[in-house]
Formats: sequence, structure tokens, C-alpha cells
Amino acid sequence: MSRVIIIGCGGVAKVAIHKCCQLDSVFTDLLIASRTKEKCDEVKKELEGKTKTNITTAKIDANDFDALVKLFKEFKPEIVMNLGMPYQNLIIMDACLECNSHYLDTAAYEPMDVNEPKWRERYEKRVKEKNFTAYFDYSYQWEYQEKFAKKGLIALLGCGFDPGVSQAYVAYAKKHEFDRIDEIDILDCNGGDHGYPFATNFNPEINLREVSSMGAYYENGKWISIPPMSIHQKYNFDGVGEKDIYLLHHEEIESIAKNLPEVKRIRFYMTFGESYIRHMNCLQNVGLLGTKAIDYEGHKIVPIQFLKALLPDPASLGSRTKGKTNIGCIFKGIKDGKEKTYYIYNVCDHQEAYKEVGSQAVSYTTGVPAMCGALMILKGYWTTPGAKTVEEYDPDPFIEALDKYGLPKRESYNPVLVD
Ligand code: NDP
Repeated sequence: MSRVIIIGCGGVAKVAIHKCCQLDSVFTDLLIASRTKEKCDEVKKELEGKTKTNITTAKIDANDFDALVKLFKEFKPEIVMNLGMPYQNLIIMDACLECNSHYLDTAAYEPMDVNEPKWRERYEKRVKEKNFTAYFDYSYQWEYQEKFAKKGLIALLGCGFDPGVSQAYVAYAKKHEFDRIDEIDILDCNGGDHGYPFATNFNPEINLREVSSMGAYYENGKWISIPPMSIHQKYNFDGVGEKDIYLLHHEEIESIAKNLPEVKRIRFYMTFGESYIRHMNCLQNVGLLGTKAIDYEGHKIVPIQFLKALLPDPASLGSRTKGKTNIGCIFKGIKDGKEKTYYIYNVCDHQEAYKEVGSQAVSYTTGVPAMCGALMILKGYWTTPGAKTVEEYDPDPFIEALDKYGLPKRESYNPVLVD
């Protein structure tokens, strides 16, 4: 018997809602709360008669602390799953503390406006001191460690696939396959085709901000920053075939570097097609990726938000996306005194995901781990309180749940390595 609130009702949230409702013996009471209540009502209707989960819906602006507290106090959730935008992570964490609820999200905090002076000052200091250039970083959420720990609550940070499962794979490799891990390459391949000239498979704002920013990797205790998309090569993915992979900065590099300090190098690669990159560069060149509001004929418009309104909604790509994703981690390290390599990954089919929950595989591979993360907390598999990332918990029950609920692992003991 668990009472759960899901905030947001986009691509990822819809999958998580479907998966929670498949486990109706655990997720007995679910409140879906989002900015557009009609979307919540639509999902509730889709699930009518298919689940015993008691679903209610509400309109919420996650920027409004008082409204969040009121909603949480009325519903009394054991956990709040924040599957909306990362801009509201801190305010939702504050509301969870106020109402004694666990918290979960799928992306590290970043501000909507990266030119906001107070935030910018701290950012510039971080860039100068650590050469850490990404707009997202865990430092803001790690500051909640003591507050959550004191109340015996968990704030589970970044529990999608990457971040999320990627870190469970790291913890799993450390527990079962290696005495020491030296190098980790996280590879995120989307071999799906939606047929549009340009669309993003998850929230366009977050996606385009991430991809158009400086790339970075972690080596020998330092951040190495590189111009956007300037390191790339080809990799042949199981189930997908050969794709171009590009080195990006990604949030789990920061937490893995902190939690497994023996690892000498951590890199993250994502696949992109030529058309995606051409469109993104063009949109950036004309200023449409800007996050600062401009004045247009008396209206304030944030360029990237305007662009989001023009692009296809990622939640609508399900029926048209064909192909597979392949996401996982390649490790180099030492076992029993000998050098060893190991690759653990998942292959997910866009059309299979659509058949099951009406969504494409990028939303599926994020929504399923979010449900499984909540399950770990609700069933008492993960109990250490505080603001924690996935690699800090026992990976076994989580990976078992992923195997069972739609994202089974595959392994290779002789993988092709990335140069
Ligand atoms: P969508 O844009 O599809 O959904 C976002 C939802 O949040 C929408 O329903 C939106 O409402 C709602 N929302 C936005 N602002 C507010 C607000 N102020 N108050 C209440 N609700 C709000 O995004 P996705 O589902 O694609 O992505 C969700 C999250 O998952 C993002 O943070 C993304 O970065 C993360 N993600 C993580 C991955 C991982 O592997 N870890 C992979 C993919 C995504 P409305 O319907 O009105 O727009």
C-alpha cells in the first residue's frame, strides 16, 4: 500500500505512470500532478479498467512552493517522483522535506536562466576552480544531504537510464566483476528513426541545452573540457549497428568521480545523426537556443521555450519511431590481479515499448528506472537516507527489477573498446 505523487505528465512521466499501474499491489494510490491537468486526465482515462491503482489528478505549478506543500499535505505521499523539469528540483525537494516525503528525479538541477546573476557567479567560480563547465551539477542537490538524512528520508537523484541505470551498472561491475575499476565509458545509442527532419526524443529544452554545451570528461582527478561535439568516432552497437558517437558532458560523471575515486577516467558518449547536428548548429547560430528572455513586440519570449513549442512533442513520437536504443557502460580494470574488460548494457525496441505503454524507447528507458527506483524505496531495499545517487545503493535488487519490468541487461566479456 503506497501513496505516490508523480509531478509532470510528459513522455517520461507517462511511462512511469503506466509501469506503476502495472504494479498496482505496490503503487495503490497515485496522484498525477502537472501544469496541464488535461494531460493527466487523458492518461488516467487510458488506464481506466486496466489497473487497480487508484488514480487522481491535479493541476500544479511546480514553481509554487506553497501550492506544492498544500498538495503534498493533502495527499500525504510516501514518495514524490519529480518527472517534470530539472529547474524545479530544489523547490520540490524543499516541499518534500516540509511534508516528510521521499523524493526522486531523473535529471540534475539546472536553472532555467543561466544568466541569472547569483547563479552565474557561482557557476563562473566553479568553471575557474574546476574547469567544470556544464550548466547542470549535483552540488545544489548534494547540499540537501544532511536535511534529508536528519529526517530519515531519501532524495534519489537522477534515477532514469543515464543518469540512473548507468550508475547501477557501475555499482554492479564494482560489486561482481572487478577488484578495481580504472576506466568507464558510458555509451548512449539511439538507433531510432521518427521520420521528422528534426525532433528530440526527450524534452527539447533540456536535450538541446545539454548537447550544444561544452563537452567534458574526467581524467586523473581533473575535468577536461572540449568544444561541443569535437570528439567523435564510430561504434558498432549490438542490435543497432554502426553509429557516430560524440563525447558529451553528462551528470553521472560527477557523481561516479565522487563515489568511486579510484576510477582514472570517465567518459560519456551519445549517438547523433548528421541531420540532428546540422539543425542544432543552425538553431544555435540564429539564437533559438537562448535561455534569456527577449522582448518581441511587447511580449517576453525565451527563445528555447518558443522553439520547444514549435518542435514535435517527444511524447507524440511513439507511434512513428522505429529501431532500437542501446545504452550501457564499458569497463576496464583489474580482477584477481589480471586486466579485465566488461560491457553491460540494455537494448530496447521503440515499437515494443510503444506496444506496451504507448511511448517510444527513450521515454521508456527513463520511466521504467524511475518506477524501479521508487519501488526500491517503497519496498525497503534501499534505506540509507540522504540526497544520494544510484551508485550509492546495492545494485542487485534494482537490476533484478529492471530485468523483470522491461529493461533486461546484456553482458559482454570481450567488448570492442572506444579509442
Ligand atoms: P516533457 O517535456 O515531455 O515533460 C515535462 C512535463 O513537465 C510536462 O508534462 C510539463 O507540463 C511538466 N512541467 C513543466 N513545467 C512544469 C511546472 N512548472 N509545473 C508542473 N509541471 C511542469 O519531458 P520528458 O518527459 O521528455 O522529460 C522529463 C524529465 O526527464 C526531464 O527532466 C528530462 O531531462 C529527464 N530525462 C532523463 C533521462 C535519463 O535517462 N535520466 C532521459 C530523458 C529525459 P506541460 O505538459 O504543461 O508542458
